[in-house]
Amino acid sequence: MKIVMIASEVVPFAKTGGLADVVGALPVALEKLGEEAIVIMPGYKCVHTVKNPQVKSFTEGISYSKIGKNVLVYFIENKEYFDRDGLYGDKTGDYKDNLERFSYFCKKALELLKQIKFKPDIIHCHDWQSALIPVYLKNPLAEDPFFVKTRTVFTIHNLGYQGLFPKEELPKTGLDWGVFNMEMLEYYDKINVLKGGLVFSDIITTVSPTYSQEIQTKEFGFGLEGVLAKRKDRLYGILNGLDYTIWDPAKDTKIAANFSTKDISGKAKCKEDLQKICNLPVKKSVPLIGVVSRLAEQKGFDIVAEAIDEICHLDIQMVILGTGDLKYHQIMEQMAKKYPKVISLHLKFDDTLAHKIYAGSDMFLMPSKYEPCGLGQMISFRYGSVPIVFKTGGLADTVNDKNGYIFDVYSKERLLQTLKKAVKDFKLKKKWNQLIQQGMKENFSWATSAKKYQKIYEKAMSL
Ligand code: ADP
Repeated sequence: MKIVMIASEVVPFAKTGGLADVVGALPVALEKLGEEAIVIMPGYKCVHTVKNPQVKSFTEGISYSKIGKNVLVYFIENKEYFDRDGLYGDKTGDYKDNLERFSYFCKKALELLKQIKFKPDIIHCHDWQSALIPVYLKNPLAEDPFFVKTRTVFTIHNLGYQGLFPKEELPKTGLDWGVFNMEMLEYYDKINVLKGGLVFSDIITTVSPTYSQEIQTKEFGFGLEGVLAKRKDRLYGILNGLDYTIWDPAKDTKIAANFSTKDISGKAKCKEDLQKICNLPVKKSVPLIGVVSRLAEQKGFDIVAEAIDEICHLDIQMVILGTGDLKYHQIMEQMAKKYPKVISLHLKFDDTLAHKIYAGSDMFLMPSKYEPCGLGQMISFRYGSVPIVFKTGGLADTVNDKNGYIFDVYSKERLLQTLKKAVKDFKLKKKWNQLIQQGMKENFSWATSAKKYQKIYEKAMSL
């Protein structure tokens, strides 16, 4: 099959979250299964600072690089739109011209396919930034012979981000007003780009089986539950894989010592190293809780903020890495000042520190209110850090009471109760080691997920 992935962020070129991990790994896993896959993404400023693999110029407005053995990654270049520090916005919020930027990206991506004569069987789009592709293919390009056999698969990585814009901006997309109605892109008098992707793609997937059910309900549907329920015969949930070439404590060069299920002794060194670099007292017996997350309500920061003072009175240490809502920055800063021997706070994006936290922590806190899939818990498993999560989406599909802690009422009380239980169990060496071993053995490899995508692509091609 000829497959093209079109997405707004791809590891190792640009990343703000799990989407980038997925689009960096899936095409490589498909390549291993014998498929021909390419990737197209915007040529942001940060893309050009990546040293390995190198990014080279291709033609006017296009550059390229390679991942895996031979997966070509093309970058749509445009100084005005993409030569900026952020991917989607800056400190003041989202960039005002995002609709223009990503319409441009989608149009140019389709043009590029013709230019390089890559006639895809499948165009796999991800999140709202590439959701206009299925819209273009079913509308202005519906009769285009180049794409006549092409089918689209659209993956929702997070329904909370929909690409909502004032209707007056529709001309920027190049679409005509015929698509602006309730059955298509209109959403309460606004343009909803994601909705366009959901309506016009041949198959919709999301990143865990539980989330694929949840998004059809009012509680998790962000207003699009009706659209999704209508298309439920075309909606599938496939759990993300984890790239174990990047996330492997036995080979990771970013951590203080390597370890594996066979010899876990290196983990104690990683904990000591983390405590030292985080200015926390070096203590083996105190459980260290790691957090690597966006500081957002979605990630459970509302209940964490409510509980944090009480958490600090437990016999624990906590290293928090992340950026997000100013409100949570401030609360966590106050707490880190109040309890400097308990909390070490890092308000930034730092991949190396993230690796050190997964490796050096005993527990990984991820009480997301909703979680399409979640990579943090999968990474923490592999690094022997026991996840503590709320039962939702991909967390419900991966964490259970044999490999972690999972609570099923979203409240400060239940969070605290679960943390207390984990802190108590930490002292029970045998039980704790079993939890660690079970987690480290979990296998969420891309090989399994990629095979499921292959089946979905075959299904799409048969439509
Ligand atoms: P999201 O909803 O943010 O995509 P995921 O759990 O799916 O959440 O993926 C988050 C990814 O981003 C993980 O690989 C995690 O380690 C990484 N990450 C999140 N915040 C940071 C940060 N501040 N620094 C480094 N890595 C981070």
